[in-house]
Amino acid sequence: MLQIEGVSVFYGAIQALNDVSIRVEPGEIVAIIGSNGAGKSTLLRTISGLLRPREGTLKFKEAEIHESAPHEIVKLGISHSPEGRRIFTNMTVQENLQLGATLRRDGAAEVAKDMEEGLNRFPRLRERFKQNAGTLSGGEQQMLAIARALMSRPTLLLLDEPSLGLAPKIVSDIFRIVTEINQSGTTVLIVEQNATRALEIAHRAYVLETGCIVLEDTGKNLLTNPKVKEAYLGG
Ligand code: ATP
Repeated sequence: MLQIEGVSVFYGAIQALNDVSIRVEPGEIVAIIGSNGAGKSTLLRTISGLLRPREGTLKFKEAEIHESAPHEIVKLGISHSPEGRRIFTNMTVQENLQLGATLRRDGAAEVAKDMEEGLNRFPRLRERFKQNAGTLSGGEQQMLAIARALMSRPTLLLLDEPSLGLAPKIVSDIFRIVTEINQSGTTVLIVEQNATRALEIAHRAYVLETGCIVLEDTGKNLLTNPKVKEAYLGG
């Protein structure tokens, strides 16, 4: 579904990704784990067309996307729930969800159907539907960011650190919901510092260290890999 080959990305003179190659197959949950500053967000921002690779190619379902604009990439079926959630705090939950569907051309009835599905998946958002998003708790804001991303009806959902700053109980809810979203047919690429949780739900995963992919395996195998245990899973 997604094939990234030899991608290098720079911020001015700073190299954030160095010859990165990964693939995501239809139906998978793929995790990218790595510490602070490894380049995880840079990778997702490059897939979304927010950053341009200096070298390498990105292909999504046979379409070359490394020169496509972000809105074109959304239309192809990739949606991004960004680091820090980036919800519109002075707009209501309803308006945030509506914005996620901006590029759709399949009619209001289909959008309403998906909004209903999103509210069923995240009942707290239904309770807060007319509230300004800025009044939501951190966990609710994360749920809104994911629900908003789903409103474009993606086939590939990019999730950037959905567990960041949340209490363990909420983190469990979020990871359970991500698994459910995947089981209902959406492919997921998730980047996380919370490596244990990410590897538990991932079919496959990559370890990113200072811009380079250093390991690839099933989530299960990486959970028991001694190097990963020592560096990322608290021994
Ligand atoms: P975190 O979990 O802290 O967000 P990350 O793995 O997502 O880490 P990135 O945010 O992708 O890492 O950053 C990768 C590298 O690029 C880091 O060295 C970071 O300092 C640098 N970087 C990120 N954004 C910029 C920017 N806008 N300008 C310059 N350097 C940047």
